[in-house]
Amino acid sequence: MVKLNEHYTEIGNNYLFAEISRRVKEYKDNHCGEKVISLGIGDITQPIAPAVVDAIIEATKEMSRTETVRGYAPYEGYDFLVQAILKHDFTDRGIAIEADEIFVSDGAKSDTGNIGDILGTDNRIAITDPAYPVYVDTNKMAGRAIELLPCTPANRFVPAFPETAADVIYLCYPNNPTGTALTKSQLKLWVDYALKNRSLILYDAAYEAYVSETDVPHSIFEIEGAQEVAIEFRSFSKTAGFTGLRAGYTVVPKSLTAKTSTNEILSLNAMWRRRQSTKFNGTAYVIQRGAEAVYSPEGQRQTKETIAYYMQNAKIIKSGIESLGLQCYGGVNAPYIWCQTPDKMSSWEFFDLLLNRAQVVGTPGSGFGTAGEGFFRFTAFGQKDDTLEAIERIKNI
Ligand code: PLP
Repeated sequence: MVKLNEHYTEIGNNYLFAEISRRVKEYKDNHCGEKVISLGIGDITQPIAPAVVDAIIEATKEMSRTETVRGYAPYEGYDFLVQAILKHDFTDRGIAIEADEIFVSDGAKSDTGNIGDILGTDNRIAITDPAYPVYVDTNKMAGRAIELLPCTPANRFVPAFPETAADVIYLCYPNNPTGTALTKSQLKLWVDYALKNRSLILYDAAYEAYVSETDVPHSIFEIEGAQEVAIEFRSFSKTAGFTGLRAGYTVVPKSLTAKTSTNEILSLNAMWRRRQSTKFNGTAYVIQRGAEAVYSPEGQRQTKETIAYYMQNAKIIKSGIESLGLQCYGGVNAPYIWCQTPDKMSSWEFFDLLLNRAQVVGTPGSGFGTAGEGFFRFTAFGQKDDTLEAIERIKNI
């Protein structure tokens, strides 16, 4: 009989969004014709930038001609995209990353989930709580011990250092789900911690494009010393509406090393390349051309317009919820607003209240970890009219 990876029995069902759908369906079945507005999903709603769509169409046409058809893409991404990433995201910002430190992928979920393939299962892992569920679940799948670092209003969502020195630390800023960010000086303390303890920081910067404040870094590599301690994950999903197109990239500096049980020191860059070339077959050419177009002048203008649209929704949500006397966090450098539930209600009680009394759906904070209990996440990824209406309805409860 086939034996299961036992660790899969420890992760439980991914029930958060399934349970939300179940409750919404039940409500709709009992209240025919009522419009339910979702401020819950973390998915894009606005059309993809014309510059990106045009580039994808042109690249698709190339596929119809013998002279220009393309097959498997390079594991690390086409040079045209790697060079565009290098210039716009790093060189122009004064960050010295090299082309062979960039690995184009099909998105940050795969990469943040797969990075554990090259890390030993006996590493001590620290993960912020609440968090994007991929970090905790994939480490549980591998059987690693995890220390959670609570992020709450008491510490202003800046996690305290782990009690026992961690080998690997997951940081996600701007943060999903809390919408909060770290300033450069706050992030520097983590880089210094990692340098001192010889830890590896796995830095998820999927929401980098939403940074609006000048003292908030777009990349961990803006911090001195970070290339000695950090891997960074980037995504075109929220930057340019690629949640359905699929593209991202990961930066693995060549200075990063890890040791084997016999104390051999090996390059993480070489190991990640080895991993990708074995298990990953490249991001589609047409999608990489679309991603390249994000960096064109029109692509930049158009994607920034969409981000501004979402961030206007964020403002509407934040000021609307705050006017009800509820404490809100985030929404300035991220498309998420993290609000404290009223009267010590649980996250799910507040969910039911909003659904039943305002027909508005959000995401219960407890679904992102224990420290999320008593909180609720609203997302700015909606239509403006719906967002305005949702807030009015909540005000009228
Ligand atoms: N990282 C964080 C923090 C996210 O919130 C998400 C998506 O919601 C991802 C990564 C996934 O990004 P991608 O669509 O590139 O897989």
